[in-house]
Amino acid sequence: MRKNILIVATGGTIASMEDGRGLAPALTGEELTGYVPEIAGLCDFDIVQPMNIDSTNMRPRDWLRIAEAIRQRYDAYDGFVVLHGTDTMAYTAAALSYLIQGSPKPIVLTGSQRPMANPFTDAKVNLYQSMLYACDDASRDVCVVFGGQVIAGTRARKQRTMSDNAFISLNFPAVALVRNKRIVRAGMPAPAGSGGVRFSDALNERVFVLKLTPEMDPGIFDVLAGSYDAVIMETFGIGGIPEYDNGSYKRAIFDWVDAGRTLVLTTQVPEEGLDLGVYEVGRDYLEHPGILRGGDMSTEALVAKTMWALGQTSDPGRLAQLFYQVINCDRLPED
Ligand code: ASP
Repeated sequence: MRKNILIVATGGTIASMEDGRGLAPALTGEELTGYVPEIAGLCDFDIVQPMNIDSTNMRPRDWLRIAEAIRQRYDAYDGFVVLHGTDTMAYTAAALSYLIQGSPKPIVLTGSQRPMANPFTDAKVNLYQSMLYACDDASRDVCVVFGGQVIAGTRARKQRTMSDNAFISLNFPAVALVRNKRIVRAGMPAPAGSGGVRFSDALNERVFVLKLTPEMDPGIFDVLAGSYDAVIMETFGIGGIPEYDNGSYKRAIFDWVDAGRTLVLTTQVPEEGLDLGVYEVGRDYLEHPGILRGGDMSTEALVAKTMWALGQTSDPGRLAQLFYQVINCDRLPED
């Protein structure tokens, strides 16, 4: 049966034109699809355009608008393709993974490294392959289709600023590859959950990412307390936090958590994740109640998940439950 796909156009390089002041989104979703007439051979489609912005300016309230645009029309379509800038696509893909869970219908994000009107654009193939993937019966959940890869929405990371293969799938295999007009899956995807799709509509955006650097002043936690409810701290290595003298890091961090604020520990090493149990410089944080462990999740997904979980509850027990739930392949269970 011919599928019906909703395109949600939001801007990005794919829609950008040069007007002498730098690339900025100008083309509408309608105009973009006009460049790839082949998609009409794949399916029927409609277009909505909640915004037309560089994704540098995309923020949590916009994630909610995109999720709401999909929620309102969910029953009328077989799949969704969100056209989006690449710079913050990994955050939006993760956010949509938490705001729209268990979707038996695919929600695909794509964009391009060069504008649709550029003679050397990657936009045409990305748009075509995203529509192809959105039309496939075995596709579901939120994902990024880009440069011939299909990446779970919680595992995308923008790794390259210029090349066509801008995204990697972090700490998790690609869900599928797209080779020309063929989708190549490593195996059959797990059956869709029986619960059906679940939408959320609340986020708490007061989440800060703190990258530990040598000699960083632990007093930063006092500064952050005025503006943030949660800190995601990128520690050294597999999970090390310095203790130069007099226990000042421990005091600052334990005070933050004991005051009811959220602390998520992760690593600044790009791959393979956190294990606080390995070194003495991490073990005390493993044993202190209330500190959440990022495991092998990406920082982008940790930001979105923490915003989502804090949008649902402020109870620390419930928060931990939501945080450790595996959602759209976002983390491997801990040993
Ligand atoms: N600055 C652009 C954006 O994120 C980059 C891109 O789309 O590739 O909207």
